[in-house]
Amino acid sequence: MITIAVDGYSSCGKSTFAKAIAKRLNYIYIDSGAMYRAVTLASIREGIAASSGIDEVRLAELLKDIKVGFVKDVSGDGWLTTLNGEVIEREIRTLEVSGLVSPVSAIPMVRSKMTQQQQEMGEQKGIVMDGRDIGTVVFPKAELKIFMTADPIIRAQRRLKEMDGKGEKVTLKEVLMNIEERDRIDGSRDVAPLRQAVDAIVLDNSHLTVEEQMNWFDNIYKEVVSKLP
Ligand code: C5P
Repeated sequence: MITIAVDGYSSCGKSTFAKAIAKRLNYIYIDSGAMYRAVTLASIREGIAASSGIDEVRLAELLKDIKVGFVKDVSGDGWLTTLNGEVIEREIRTLEVSGLVSPVSAIPMVRSKMTQQQQEMGEQKGIVMDGRDIGTVVFPKAELKIFMTADPIIRAQRRLKEMDGKGEKVTLKEVLMNIEERDRIDGSRDVAPLRQAVDAIVLDNSHLTVEEQMNWFDNIYKEVVSKLP
């Protein structure tokens, strides 16, 4: 079993791709973005994070009491994110959370707490984790690192469709602005910025179906595994 890191820009289908890989290999899948979203949701609920700013003193206190986890989705084959035992999968995908998650994630104490939890989850290998800093910081020794990218307009269209399906009323412009703003903040923060690891393989899926991405993955995986000692 190996460790697979999937990083890349916002809304380029990392979770769909990473989930499909995990299913194919019978590996554990962890959505690290969901963990940052959960912290953001808790901060919004407590009035600690808002568009006017983030109260870092209270955030430090909140972080001590937060336990982010995942439970099996009984109605599907995926996992649902939990915050202190409460399923919050739907609440963390709103545009309100998306609008504050990058500033919250840029705070070093938030990163160190999440990074530590993620590293513990990956101790046994046999894991696919997607995020922004998995190949560079969380699992720098991952045997396979994939860096995903796609055209911003295509990413926004995909995200809009997904949000429409969940009944969230947002416009293409709002979604596009959020994606570009998150990429900007995630790429320019001081701690663990969004970066392509030097040993990552790039996958631009702008014009690829999920099936085509899986075919691409099968070839890469075989090649990586054949070179392992
Ligand atoms: O993957 P997703 O788009 O749900 O991630 C939401 C946000 O969480 C990102 O925009 C980024 O600010 C943060 N994130 C991070 N590091 C990760 C995963 C996500 O900073 N490894």
